[in-house]
Amino acid sequence: MRPTVLNPLFADITALPKIGPKLAALIGKVAGARVVDLLFTLPVGLIDRSYRPTIAMAEEDRLATIEVTVDRHDPPPQGKLNVPWRVLCSDETGFLTLVFFRAKGDWIREQLPEGERRLVSGRVESYGSQRQMAHPDLILPVNGDAELPPAEPVYPLTAGLTSKVMRRAASAALDRAPKLDEWQRPDVLHARAWPSWHEALTRVHNPEDKGDLNPQSVARQRLAYDELLSNQLALALIRHRRTERPGRRTTGDGHLTNDVRAALPFALTGAQEEALKEVLADMAAPSRMVRLVQGDVGSGKTVVALMAMLTAVEAGAQAAIMAPTEILARQHFETIKPLCDAADVACELITGRDRGQERAAKRAGVAKGYVKVVVGTHALFSDDVAFDDLALVVVDEQHRFGVHQRLALQEKGPRADLLVMTATPIPRTLALTTYGDMEVSTIGEKPPGRKPVDTRAVPLARLDQVTEGIGRAILRGEQAYWVCPLVEANDMLDQTAAEERYEALAARFPGQVGLVHGKMKGPQKDAVVEAFYRGEIKLLVATTVIEVGVNAPDATVIVIEHAERFGLAQLHQLRGRVGRGDKPATCILLYKAGEGGKLGDTAKARLNVLRETEDGFVIAEQDLALRGAGDALGTAQSGFPQFRVADVADHAELLQVARDDAQLVVQTDPELQTERGEALRTLLYLFGQNDAVKLLRSG
Ligand code: ADP
Ligand code: MG
Repeated sequence: MRPTVLNPLFADITALPKIGPKLAALIGKVAGARVVDLLFTLPVGLIDRSYRPTIAMAEEDRLATIEVTVDRHDPPPQGKLNVPWRVLCSDETGFLTLVFFRAKGDWIREQLPEGERRLVSGRVESYGSQRQMAHPDLILPVNGDAELPPAEPVYPLTAGLTSKVMRRAASAALDRAPKLDEWQRPDVLHARAWPSWHEALTRVHNPEDKGDLNPQSVARQRLAYDELLSNQLALALIRHRRTERPGRRTTGDGHLTNDVRAALPFALTGAQEEALKEVLADMAAPSRMVRLVQGDVGSGKTVVALMAMLTAVEAGAQAAIMAPTEILARQHFETIKPLCDAADVACELITGRDRGQERAAKRAGVAKGYVKVVVGTHALFSDDVAFDDLALVVVDEQHRFGVHQRLALQEKGPRADLLVMTATPIPRTLALTTYGDMEVSTIGEKPPGRKPVDTRAVPLARLDQVTEGIGRAILRGEQAYWVCPLVEANDMLDQTAAEERYEALAARFPGQVGLVHGKMKGPQKDAVVEAFYRGEIKLLVATTVIEVGVNAPDATVIVIEHAERFGLAQLHQLRGRVGRGDKPATCILLYKAGEGGKLGDTAKARLNVLRETEDGFVIAEQDLALRGAGDALGTAQSGFPQFRVADVADHAELLQVARDDAQLVVQTDPELQTERGEALRTLLYLFGQNDAVKLLRSG
């Protein structure tokens, strides 16, 4: 149960004064639905009002706050909407005209009564020989300067949400923030001069100068560290809970793996052997394995997994491999089945679409232990699938699953080892936040003889040429992908929708084009992809659903429309869809040129990285550097934790400290029962790590 002291923070933001459903919806877009979301939405800028010149001294175009006397109103003639309302003001050094277009006269008169003194804040400009200020953004009576803050925070905004409203909301949220028992170690706080949680929040929401916006300011560091610690502590608790439970020793005699090695048309690369060795060592150890094998697309992870699975079979047990989609499960099955046949090992495909007697028969085979190697989708973990003796679970493309699903998976084979495979090369820092509970093996080398994919950036204006190129590839018997970023046309963003593109291409290549997008139903989508996979369709128009890869060896061209809108790592993944056969392959990055037909510098730098290297790790690091962690790897849909305050690029050092801190906590106070432990529970709840708290015995 969440500590009651946190209740005000988890209340809906409509609980705050003057925030109704309409405003809440707008604030929801930039922050979130709860008070705590507002608290963790930090200012992104500030308005500095400390510049207080006289009228004569005011520099042009600089935000100035000036004390003036209101001399006279000069309203526009009746009906003349394009003439502004002027208010003539002065101080002892000169004259300043305040200018209001289309403003209500009553309001202006009320704000600026003739003969009175006012503070006005805005940008001063020269208009002929006059000095003027258009639409001051602050008008305040002069009764002690204390009323005017030297700086005002600027929050992320959205259409319809003003800075003023957002500031008021954030400030109301801050008023509700309770003082919480300290969960950080006193020596750490002292050494880094970090304020308390409450004090840190107060400071970040009341920045006084640019330095307070710096991610390395003590207040921001403190809050970032809180978040990183909650993340690392949750992972450490999961890991601890797992190691507490007994595992099993699984070793093989090589009689099956040797058969498969003999049946393979290639030898494993050094990198594959190395990863396999690490996996087998973990399996042979008495504790439960939780290991991530990461390797770029095409690095050959499947074979490594198969060898590990067959080792489990050699030990007399079963092994299962789970893929995130039906199509991928089928493809794994088609790869693995013949190799299992070569070793005389029974292998079955289990998915949610199995029906009737076949379904029953497959499941019985698995339950009785006749079937040794099982390939499947999530269906593997549904209640009607039971294993006789499951020793190894392999999960492909893990980054589609979250930490919590990982917990659930392990329930299926109570002592089973877990091997996770991901094709997304993950920068080290991100790996720590996501897989901090796992050991990591890396296949850093690709099988020999791979040809680089010819990667080109082409402006959208040359669309016709690109289409003709695809026509030639189709004539050669090859296939192509066409990737579009969105499903529905969005005029505002000028984004080409997959549907429109599909129609144009289908008209050009009748009967040879298929369309898949995220809003289609599973079976419908699979049917199209499989038709492509079988070669019945030559050109597959898709949104990024193909990212998690189908394997079509005849695909030699991939066109990525609006390439400038994708993350580098994502583009790299997409590119990995071609060049899987022996024919030379091309990746065309279609971009929308800006003014003068040119691509922006950052966009150009990004596309160049991609053209210059095919090393997914280099690309992932660059992506992180160029875009920041929030966007790298398309985190939003990928299961990487979304930090609100911390930034793994800015706070990489803190992440390491948090990791060590979390490990120490779990070693010394695994049930979080000490005084600090109690406070740490609150921290976990504060950052929504409720599942991790559930692991604790006395919860
Ligand atoms: P991924 O790591 O992307 O899952 P796969 O396991 O699908 O890669 O392997 C990609 C392709 O490389 C497959 O066609 C596979 O048969 C082949 N392959 C795997 N290992 C080797 C190797 N050592 N030498 C040559 N080809 C290999
Ligand atoms: Mg794979």
